[in-house]
Amino acid sequence: MRRVTVLVTILALGITMIGVIFAQSPRQRAGRDGADTPRGKARQSRSVQVYVFDAQGKLVGPVESPRLVLSNAEWRKRLTPEQFKVSRGKATERPFCGTLLDNHLEGVYHCVGCKLPLFASNSKFTSGSGWPSFFQPVASENIAQAVDTTEGMARMEIHCARCGGHLGHVFEDGPAPTGLRFCVNSASLEFTPADKLATLADPAAASVTAAEAALPAGVTQTSAATDQKTTDKKTAVAVLAGGCFWCTEAVFEQLAGVKSVESGYAGGDQNTANYYTVSSGQTGHAEAIRIEYDPEQISFEKLLDIFFETHDPTQLNRQGNDVGPQYRSAVFYADAQQKAAAEKKLKDLTDAKKFRRRIVTTLEPLAEFYPAEQYHQDYAMLHPDQPYIQAHTYPKVCKVREKYAADVKPEEGK
Ligand SMILES: [Zn+2]
Repeated sequence: MRRVTVLVTILALGITMIGVIFAQSPRQRAGRDGADTPRGKARQSRSVQVYVFDAQGKLVGPVESPRLVLSNAEWRKRLTPEQFKVSRGKATERPFCGTLLDNHLEGVYHCVGCKLPLFASNSKFTSGSGWPSFFQPVASENIAQAVDTTEGMARMEIHCARCGGHLGHVFEDGPAPTGLRFCVNSASLEFTPADKLATLADPAAASVTAAEAALPAGVTQTSAATDQKTTDKKTAVAVLAGGCFWCTEAVFEQLAGVKSVESGYAGGDQNTANYYTVSSGQTGHAEAIRIEYDPEQISFEKLLDIFFETHDPTQLNRQGNDVGPQYRSAVFYADAQQKAAAEKKLKDLTDAKKFRRRIVTTLEPLAEFYPAEQYHQDYAMLHPDQPYIQAHTYPKVCKVREKYAADVKPEEGK
C-alpha cells in the first residue's frame, strides 16, 4: 500500500510538476485531469477515465464516463442546502459536526453529486482534525486536484473527477502507507455499506464487459501464467505470496538458479488486477511473485524453505502492518507435484513446531498471474533508500544471505 506514495505524492505535487506528470502513463495521469488542472484539452473533454462499481459490486476500470455538468439551479434541486454550500460552493463544514466523521462501518464513500466511488472504509483513519480523513482514494483517477490559494496559503484542493464537486484538501501529513491525508467534508460524501455496493452499479461499468468481449478468444492482457506450460524443461515456475511483493521479489531475486522474479497479483480476476483495486482487499488477489527458476540448480522445496523463512505464515490476511487478504500467505501451485510438495512442507513445519502459532498459509490452484504495474517491478533494487525497504526488505534479504549463503548468486565482480 505504501507504494501509493510514489504515485500519489507525485500527484499531490500536481501542477508544479507538469514535467513529471507528462512522463507518466496515461492511467497515472488520468487522475489529474480535473477541471482545474492546466491540461487544457482535458479541461474541455466531456468524459473522464474513472473506476466505478459494476452490477456485482466490484470496482472496475478505468472506464470512460461522461462528466456530469449541471446548472446551480439543478444542483440545488439534487442537494440539501448544506451539501450545495460545500460541494458546489467549496465551503468547509464545521469540524466535528459532519455526519460521517465517526462512521466506522465497512463500505465505500462516494460523491454526493454523482455517486462516483471516492474512498473505501479501509483507508479511513482518525486524524483528530474533525473531518473524515483517508490515506488514499479508491483510485487516483477518481479524485482531481487543484492548487487553492485562498486563506493566504497554498493548499491542494480535491474534487470529484466526474462532477467537479468540492471534497476538501489533501495534505502530506497522513499516516503510512501513503503519508497523505485526504481531509474531506462529510457533506460532500455519501456512504454505502459493503454489502450494498451493487446498488452503486454505474452505467460506465458496462464498457468493461464489452471491451473484454472484443478480445479474441484466448487473448488476455497477461502472458505469464499462460507461458507456463510452454517454458522449456530447464525453467520451472513458482508463484508465492508472502505479503508485500517488494520484499518477496528482492528475497528471491538473489538466489542462484533463479532466472527472474516478477511482482504481480494472483487469486483474482483480470479486470481487477491492478494495484489500486487490489488494495481494496476485495478482489481476491494476493500480492504475489512469479519466480522462474532452473530446477536443476534450485528446487521447489528450497524455494519453499526460504519462503517460510522470510515471512510469518501464522498471520491471517496480513504481514505486520500490511493488512488485508491481499497480503495473505499463499502458495499458488501450478500442478499436483507442487501441491504435494507444499502440503508436505506445511506438515513438516507443523510437526517440527517451527512456529508457535498455527500456520495459515493457503494452498490455492494457480489460475492466472497478472504482472503488477511497471513501477512495482524491481522496486527494492531501484529504491534502496526508501524507509520501507530499509525497515522491511533488507532484513529479509540479509537473513537469506546469511542462512542460505550457498544458494545466493555470487556478487558481480567476485
Ligand atoms: Zn461527483
